[in-house]
Amino acid sequence: MDSSATTDRVTPVRLYDSFRRDKVAFEPLEPGKVGMYVCGPTPYAAAHIGHAYSAVGFDTIRRSLTFLGYQVRYVRNVTDVEDKIIKRANELGEDPMALAARYAADYNRDMARFGVLPPDVEPKVSTHIAEIIALIERLIGNGAAYPVDGDVYFEIAKFPSYGALSGMKLDELLEGARVEVDERKRSPADFALWKAAKPGEPAWDSPWGKGRPGWHIECSAMTTAHLGERFDLHGGGKDLIFPHHENEIAQSQGAFGTDTFARYWLHNGLLTSDGKKFGKSLGNAIDCTEVANAVGAEALRLFFVTHHFRSTIDFDFKVTRDADDRVVEVRFLSLEAADRKLEYFYTTLNRIDELLAQGGPVSEGAVLPAAEVLVPAAREALADDFNTPIVMAALHEAAQLANRLLDEGKGIDKQVRRRTLARLAKDLRAVGDALGVFAADPKTYLAERRTRLVARRKVDVAAVERLLAERVAARQAKDFTRGDAIRAELAQLGVALHDTPRGTDWSVQDDAS
Ligand SMILES: [Zn+2]
Repeated sequence: MDSSATTDRVTPVRLYDSFRRDKVAFEPLEPGKVGMYVCGPTPYAAAHIGHAYSAVGFDTIRRSLTFLGYQVRYVRNVTDVEDKIIKRANELGEDPMALAARYAADYNRDMARFGVLPPDVEPKVSTHIAEIIALIERLIGNGAAYPVDGDVYFEIAKFPSYGALSGMKLDELLEGARVEVDERKRSPADFALWKAAKPGEPAWDSPWGKGRPGWHIECSAMTTAHLGERFDLHGGGKDLIFPHHENEIAQSQGAFGTDTFARYWLHNGLLTSDGKKFGKSLGNAIDCTEVANAVGAEALRLFFVTHHFRSTIDFDFKVTRDADDRVVEVRFLSLEAADRKLEYFYTTLNRIDELLAQGGPVSEGAVLPAAEVLVPAAREALADDFNTPIVMAALHEAAQLANRLLDEGKGIDKQVRRRTLARLAKDLRAVGDALGVFAADPKTYLAERRTRLVARRKVDVAAVERLLAERVAARQAKDFTRGDAIRAELAQLGVALHDTPRGTDWSVQDDAS
């Protein structure tokens, strides 16, 4: 393919780079192509929605770049060798590698439910030991690292720009590190690249004896292996800036030179509850499965993309307990609101699909100009630091226009109306794809939502169907008083009726309390 033709279709992006602490023009190494690395999970327990926020944030950036015309190579690692995994495996009497593999598979299953696309490469520590050892040897050769008793440490004093990403000063660092004095280290702030084997831990042979990698070195080894010594974007949660990302920079530049490693840094905000970070260790984690079952996975995705990926979101939920302090019900109020928004979009798409299914193919020709603004507006917003809330607003306007045309449509040429609605549905889906939403079949989504609401509101479906049949009979007998009474009775049960050309549909009213 002609490369100039490729780059013509690429929209230039400006992004907030956490290293430069400024919004800058993004210039990839190769025009039109992006190499992107994101620090992935340490799988030792079920994923909670804080993990989902990070995964969705970077998946949205990847999708946005694709929407803007870039060819993206997306690498997200799995830290399958780490202290927390070993500790948990020992508690359970399970092999640490087997435990990590199990939770890594669960993580990918959960993230897929939230529309997170699989990475192009998903490197694991356990399959990159040779690359990690080679990198440590290089650092020792450069004088940036030193072995002691089977451990290897990075010597921070040999990397004068240490702290440039986090703004951390070396003396502050020493202050913080003083708590765990280790006489064998040249400085208390030096960090481990390799740890000598301890009983009950997975270990590999190395030039320093049996052992395993420290946490930070894997990302330096994996980026080099899969994206090269220099690459475009590096992402991760804000909580990884120090020490993890600071150490990644020190390791990679210590090995390959100052002008290497990530050229732009993106950090997403944290998900908090009452201002506190979500986490297993804090006991406030909400499992992904619990949320997906209660409100549907797509509601969480929509909720996330309604915020900018850098913002910290305080997650709102309400727990009802009985007299014995047992949890009776957990309500995810922000997600229920997101689910109502989704219902609006899917109902709109469903109405357009049904209208277009009748009356033959859509003809070629002009559409109403108001239907042409969504894609350029989305492109502009995403090219400006991936501003998804603005895209959400543009999607809303497009759906409102579609509903006006569906409801009225008077005074508009029938073919223009059909073409405009077809265009709106196509663009709603294309822009939705950049955010990872609206990919479901509208009828499937609406049916699943009804099933969830039936369960939540404890609707007696058999009673609803009996009343619906009675209403059909009453209307056939022209007993409209009885028909209206049945409608009122159903409303009492939380059920709304929708008379369509195909018959009567029903939905469950959301109790927006
Ligand atoms: Zn990392």
